[in-house]
Amino acid sequence: MKILDGKILAQNVKDELRKEVFSLKAKTGSVPVLKNVIVGDDHASCAYANSQKKVAEYIGIDYALEIIPRDIAQNDFEEVIKRLNADKRVNGIMIHKPLPEHFDYSEVANYVDMAKDLEGINVANIGRMILGETKIIPCTPASVMEHLRSTGIDLRGREVVVVGHSTIVGKPLSLLLLRQMATVTVCHVATSESGKLVDHVSRADIVVVAVGSPALIKGEWIKEGAVVIDVGINRVDGKIVGDVEFESASQKASFITPVPGGVGPVTVVMLMRNGIEAFKAQNRIV
Ligand code: NDP
Repeated sequence: MKILDGKILAQNVKDELRKEVFSLKAKTGSVPVLKNVIVGDDHASCAYANSQKKVAEYIGIDYALEIIPRDIAQNDFEEVIKRLNADKRVNGIMIHKPLPEHFDYSEVANYVDMAKDLEGINVANIGRMILGETKIIPCTPASVMEHLRSTGIDLRGREVVVVGHSTIVGKPLSLLLLRQMATVTVCHVATSESGKLVDHVSRADIVVVAVGSPALIKGEWIKEGAVVIDVGINRVDGKIVGDVEFESASQKASFITPVPGGVGPVTVVMLMRNGIEAFKAQNRIV
């Protein structure tokens, strides 16, 4: 069994992206400029933005944070984003969550111009992703795909079971897997209710779990030699754990991601990759 170490993978991808930014700078005289917007002073958002800033600096990306007062009206906030959309110096924009309760998130998610949508969650980008017409991919699914790529396993014809069908993880991930010609089964709460989750998981060559429920997936369910990617993040007795029983699953898996230190560290790097892809598309660099 091999542990898929997200820190090592993140470092490898950061090094590749750093080289790419260096060569883009030589070609164009500029580097990607990313704007992150936080509404209010949510502690977790600020901590996440700080870690993004460090990654951006390492890669050579120009990263700036804009903090907006929490009591801003949604209309005024839309104007802030429109201003960034129109600013030719800005290549990518991310709006951090959580947002104030008086905001309608489904509307706000689409304020960012699709060409600058760092998270790849704008409805237009999701549509383009389904059609294979964009390189801007939602970050957590992109991280999962990067982990799978690092195993060297060809996904074509593999039985892949994705547990969780959220808009930001499970759904886009299942489409990315499909594009690689995997045979994809998507499980959700009703799969568990019907008692069939074990049947699906136990026949999978690759299992990806993104639910947020500790020990949902029992180690004994894992097929001998399967790849296990655990996206879940749960706090149990002061410790961070995933959705899979790690110790027992490790006895069966050929590759497994730890939590923490698996999918998470690569996710932030994928945001930077989206920023670079946005820069390249805006500068018509193939
Ligand atoms: P959501 O809560 O949006 O989605 C959870 C999904 O799990 C839903 O599709 C839900 O189905 C499904 N689900 C709930 N209970 C069960 C069950 N008993 N059996 C099977 N499926 C079930 O969460 P996210 O997708 O945003 O995140 C999932 C997990 O991944 C969380 O722990 C989150 O913290 C973590 N995460 C980690 C990231 C990283 O970088 N490592 C990034 C993003 C998320 P239904 O809708 O039908 O109820």
